[in-house]
Amino acid sequence: SVNPLNLCAIEVAAGPGARILARAPGLPDDLFEHDGQITKREIRAVTLSSLAPRRGQLLWDIGAGSGSVAIEWMLADPSMRAVAVEADNERAMRIRRNALAFGVPDLQVVTGGAPEALADLPRPDAVFIGGGGSDPGVLDAALAALKPGGTLVANAVTLAFEAMLIERHAAVGGTLTRLSVARAAPLGGMVGWRPAMPVTQWVWEK
Ligand code: SAH
Repeated sequence: SVNPLNLCAIEVAAGPGARILARAPGLPDDLFEHDGQITKREIRAVTLSSLAPRRGQLLWDIGAGSGSVAIEWMLADPSMRAVAVEADNERAMRIRRNALAFGVPDLQVVTGGAPEALADLPRPDAVFIGGGGSDPGVLDAALAALKPGGTLVANAVTLAFEAMLIERHAAVGGTLTRLSVARAAPLGGMVGWRPAMPVTQWVWEK
């Protein structure tokens, strides 16, 4: 049984029709405004786990898309800070809207392409590369900026970026993981597994 007074307090604080967010990362994709360029919930949950957020840390979310990874990073704790770097202006404005809707208005949004857009940012404790990773200089700039002891997580869906991650893994180690997810969906009159594109994830601690 739910205490009606508690429900009432939530409505007053968050407005009518407000929903209570789950505490674990990997929130449903459709809670975010997005144009299809979003790290899908299962992959996002693993990605946040790999990023291993600790209180007070700063994340760079490079190729932030909808901002979902940076937003879930910030939702972990009020002390968390994040910078979302996004080359596309429309998407950068969408990140700002999502940040406001999720109650993390302090998310810093940088509109611009990496690596140039990274130049003046404070050094991060963790970096996520979800886009632009195969652009020249992006991986090197991210690795150079990362604080000692920090964690870099890079997700590749293209062969070009995957090849770069395989090369880095061979050179400096870390963990290379291939993630694939399939969801049951209508297939003719039946139901079959619809696979999403596999993601190669490299995790490296500096
Ligand atoms: N992780 C995101 C999805 C990323 S999609 C989410 O969950 O929403 C990849 C994004 O990288 C796209 O929005 C694209 O515009 C951006 N991008 C590609 N190259 C980039 C670069 N060099 N610098 C910054 N952003 C880049």
